[in-house]
Amino acid sequence: MRVSTTEFTVVGGGIAGLVTARRLAMAGRTVRLIEASNHLGGTVASHLVGGINLDAGAESFATRNNTVADLARELGLSDDIVSPSDEGAWLQPVSGVALPLPSTGVLGIPATPLDAQTIAVLGLGGALRAQLDSLIPWFGKRTDISLGALVRRRMGKATVEKLVAPVVHGVYSLHPNDLPLERVAGLKERLALHGSLAAAARSMRDAMPAGTAVQGIRGGINRLITELAADLTTYGVIIEFERRIESAEALAELDGTVIVAAPGILAPVRGRTVTLATLVLDAPALDAEPRGSGVLVAPGCTTVSARALTHSTAKWSWLQEYAEGRHIVRLSYNEEPADLAETARLDAELLLGVSLPPESVIDFGRQQWIRPTPLAAAERTDGVVVVGETVGGTGLAGIISHANATVDSLLAPADDAADEAADDEESEDARENG
Ligand SMILES: Cc1cc2nc3c(=O)[nH]c(=O)nc-3n(C[C@H](O)[C@H](O)[C@H](O)COP(=O)(O)OP(=O)(O)OC[C@H]3O[C@@H](n4cnc5c(N)ncnc54)[C@H](O)[C@@H]3O)c2cc1C
Repeated sequence: MRVSTTEFTVVGGGIAGLVTARRLAMAGRTVRLIEASNHLGGTVASHLVGGINLDAGAESFATRNNTVADLARELGLSDDIVSPSDEGAWLQPVSGVALPLPSTGVLGIPATPLDAQTIAVLGLGGALRAQLDSLIPWFGKRTDISLGALVRRRMGKATVEKLVAPVVHGVYSLHPNDLPLERVAGLKERLALHGSLAAAARSMRDAMPAGTAVQGIRGGINRLITELAADLTTYGVIIEFERRIESAEALAELDGTVIVAAPGILAPVRGRTVTLATLVLDAPALDAEPRGSGVLVAPGCTTVSARALTHSTAKWSWLQEYAEGRHIVRLSYNEEPADLAETARLDAELLLGVSLPPESVIDFGRQQWIRPTPLAAAERTDGVVVVGETVGGTGLAGIISHANATVDSLLAPADDAADEAADDEESEDARENG
């Protein structure tokens, strides 16, 4: 009979699997990690474009619960945690030129609907309709609705389509009509407390920690993966690369308590494809950072195919140093155009409002990802522990908090039992010793 010494098997070596494996191993447990590809990190990846090592997926983290910054500090990256420049983002409306994104809102929900920036985006009629929100009572009966439906009822269609949709798409890769209200942490509660959406948005902004809502890491978020991988080696985690667990049934073959940290095992991967185009440009006209940190595109805008553009060298000063005078621009697409490189160049020209001739493009990089949708309750297999994006929410902050809490709850009963056993032994000793 085979006797296994593996107490935990973690399937999937993205950020969720790595954080889980590390926390278990640091608690003295024996851990095996199984990864389908030949490298760790999943969506927290890097690629070389124009000779610069750039994040190819996640490029920042939410500061709201300090989880990611705490992890970065534990991994020795304290001195390299950086804030983005305070250049705001811009909005590309369905037609016309880009406008600054009102700076007071949350997820595009205006906190002060009648301020000049909001009127510039919504028009006076749209802004007055949004202001009606303060007069509509909130009974809190229907909360099983989408964010889009809620904002439309209280602030009108223009607010949904012109403000909320571009921002929500940038964060969740979803239209607000497809984003359940409950996935927006804290909004429902603050709406119940304050009675209007604008007041809820104001109070959410006030509750944000001082400084920026997101931070990054000098050298790229992907450095978290390098450091986590080093820790796994230090704590003796066995890593198996290029082994794909094909089905939920196959989990039964694995040793110890199995933790699924990979989408596609308990249910087929469903979700949206996101294609990223990265341009490294020789374009002095961009030195003036004409669109701040980047541009979010309103749904229905047909003049560009991109859904968002980040002017990465304007957003991150460390990247500006690394790029040595060149500019880095990253565009995201829901549907990949036939000629991605050329479309990205033309979209960048239009969104940034500067001429970018073909010879200004020094290099181009392409990356494609799937953003998985959450796992339905019925897809959870009894006894199988799951971490990661399908259960922990969108974004590193939520995923890491969830993974930490999952490990703590897995260890708690065993530790409590061990403590009780130790207490029993101590009292036995006490009795024996009189
Ligand atoms: C373009 C893009 C930009 C993003 N930007 C940000 C951002 O700026 N900030 C932020 O907080 N979040 C961002 N996110 C979201 C964030 O990157 C993800 O939510 C997070 O990295 C998901 O981590 P995970 O470990 O759950 O899954 P993954 O990263 O998907 O990792 C899963 C791992 O499991 C492996 N695997 C899959 N199937 C199997 C199998 N059958 N057997 C064994 N192994 C398997 C995969 O190879 C992979 O290594 C972004 C996502 C995308 C796509």
